[in-house]
Amino acid sequence: MNYCMEQCQGLKGNNGECCHIRDKNWIIGKVKDDKELLARVQKEYDKNLTWNDLFIDYDEGSKMFPDKPDWQNKDLYPAMRVRPELEGSPCVFFDNGCKIHDIKSDVCKEYKCQWLVNKEVRDKFVYVESKSQNQTCIGIKGGKFAGVVYKYGKVSFGKEEDENGNLPLQFQYDIVDNNGIPREQFGDDFFNLIGDILVLVMEEQTKYEPINRENNSN
Ligand code: SF4
Ligand code: SF4
Repeated sequence: MNYCMEQCQGLKGNNGECCHIRDKNWIIGKVKDDKELLARVQKEYDKNLTWNDLFIDYDEGSKMFPDKPDWQNKDLYPAMRVRPELEGSPCVFFDNGCKIHDIKSDVCKEYKCQWLVNKEVRDKFVYVESKSQNQTCIGIKGGKFAGVVYKYGKVSFGKEEDENGNLPLQFQYDIVDNNGIPREQFGDDFFNLIGDILVLVMEEQTKYEPINRENNSN
């Protein structure tokens, strides 16, 4: 994810927000591959670095940020070491970008902030108005489900939190136009896609800009 290190939230110069604590309640995630990462860093970056140079354990971290709930959560350790003495409390490997970008932990490789996810999802659909439907529909723009039009039904939140402490989104949907794609091909990948779109749609609810399908038939 080279590209994401350059303009967090789309702002030039806003660099590596996920590598800083600042005033956020924030740990990028548990470093599950700590031993492997330490070995890679010692081999390719600095052979003298130790586990404690790279990571913070619960005993230390819970005292370092007593007011931040994430730092009181044992499940988020070991954490990447941060430097509270520096502006924004950056990760020890942050210096105008990640100094160990090519060998960083899985948790850093896999992390995508919601802004990045939204940015990718936003390119995948358009709002569609159709005279035959009584609500705004969604049209998929590209990929396997290009041309499919659907609408959401009842949306609610599940009662039990997931592993990240979030309440899962539950929703019904109705395919208005399958664009010739057989129904049996609408599996988990379609469901996951329209789930991501729904999150963004809910964020955008107040700024809907419907596109009239009849004027957009090319
Ligand atoms: S994942 Fe998001 S917060 Fe982190 S560097 Fe990329 S754009 Fe910035
Ligand atoms: S290892 Fe690199 S990507 Fe991960 S938090 Fe530190 S500076 Fe950011």
